[in-house]
Amino acid sequence: MEVGPYRGGVAEDCEPAYDLQDCDYQVIQASRGCIRHCSFCGTWRIEPKAMFRRSVVDSIVKPKVVFYDNNFLANPHVASILGEVADFRLPDGRRVLCECQCGFDTRLITPELAKALKRARFRNVRISWDGRYEEWPVVNAAVDALEEAGYPRRDTAAGALSLHADQNRRPAFDNG
Ligand code: SF4
Repeated sequence: MEVGPYRGGVAEDCEPAYDLQDCDYQVIQASRGCIRHCSFCGTWRIEPKAMFRRSVVDSIVKPKVVFYDNNFLANPHVASILGEVADFRLPDGRRVLCECQCGFDTRLITPELAKALKRARFRNVRISWDGRYEEWPVVNAAVDALEEAGYPRRDTAAGALSLHADQNRRPAFDNG
């Protein structure tokens, strides 16, 4: 992980003081960087080494959680994270609602992960379509999987970028 410049990245170990804020949501990053190298994207340049958390529930203090991951589903621990979020309860017994700020990587959406997202109470689902038009069956399959999991087709938003054909063809790097 590329850590911040202040004192060698010491802020990475600090949780925000959400108790000082009058709001019902918080931001969490379960990962940094991205497994892909889309030519138009700055993520892999700014955070050249991907980092994946295994668990996030120790960080949850608010009833609404916004994940700021660049590629949430690329986390190899994502199924486990979704499971723990689904089972998590705040001290007053409430469950949490979740949302991902970035679109889900369409190529990584499986029927199992779609159901896990639903069980973890993710709302306002968006998917990213950064590839070629010929890949539309992959996008369609992802929308189908989400629909099967309980996300109505009309509610699934897609962010699409139409650039040159090989924009996504650079190899993903090995994160160990
Ligand atoms: S998948 Fe998304 S976050 Fe990752 S490099 Fe491509 S555009 Fe950037």
